[in-house]
Amino acid sequence: MADLAGKVALVTGGSRGIGAAIAKRLAREGAAVALTYVSGKDKADAVVRDIEAAGGRALALQADSADAEAVRGAVRETARAFGELDILVNNAGVGYLATITEFPLEEFDRLVAVNVRGVFAAVKEAVAHMGEGGRVITIGSMAAERIPMSAMAVYAMTKAAVAGLTRGLARDLGPRGITVNNVQPGPIDTDMSPADGAYADLFRSGLAIKRFGTGDEVAAMVAYLASPEAGFVTGASLTIDGGNNA
Ligand code: NDP
Repeated sequence: MADLAGKVALVTGGSRGIGAAIAKRLAREGAAVALTYVSGKDKADAVVRDIEAAGGRALALQADSADAEAVRGAVRETARAFGELDILVNNAGVGYLATITEFPLEEFDRLVAVNVRGVFAAVKEAVAHMGEGGRVITIGSMAAERIPMSAMAVYAMTKAAVAGLTRGLARDLGPRGITVNNVQPGPIDTDMSPADGAYADLFRSGLAIKRFGTGDEVAAMVAYLASPEAGFVTGASLTIDGGNNA
């Protein structure tokens, strides 16, 4: 178990999928958890209710990661509600699949805004509220290192960007005792990438372990990185992909 008693965490995009699993796991380890959503208020409220029913503390905040002011507001609201931040998990992310000839520039801008600019804005504000022992964890993707099919170039680019950002921020923040890491999942069964979706068989065919992963499996890796035990791990991109990139 990762002992997070007394810690304060913010998980972006915590209403569904991997983010909801992370929020619940961090709360189970003892952290007070704020989670953001963009349009899924009912689902976000349900995650809060689940955490509270298990004896934890949680808060849902509407904050579009594409809007830097909203992201900054969510960090400040978390600190007001629970105290200064210990753990930031940049999980909110969006995808759009199309080859270069079909890819709209507006979608390029949206993916960069949420997956990269939103992460930068969140970290910048969060570290103003974070002391020694702080943890910044971003959910990247296996696609940062190996792209299993066409139509994923822009998504992969955004996830490669956060891997690079992670390495650089680890250098910036190491002297303050704050670690910065990147978790790179392979296919995880969520609304973004359902295990029975159009690309599921193609994804499965590339895996060493021939099944989709679960949000709980990703959350376990995040819980380790958030824990005091992981204090010497920083600047790392840890892949959890059923062997896709092996
Ligand atoms: P889902 O689409 O299932 O859930 C996305 C979550 O992010 C929801 O809580 C959603 O909120 C929130 N969100 C989406 N856009 C925004 C935004 N603009 N601002 C704030 N919150 C937002 O995604 P997954 O759980 O599958 O993915 C989570 C992360 O993991 C992403 O970064 C994704 O790129 C990454 N990932 C996923 C993989 C997979 O196979 N599933 C593989 C590799 C990486 P709301 O309910 O309000 O829409």
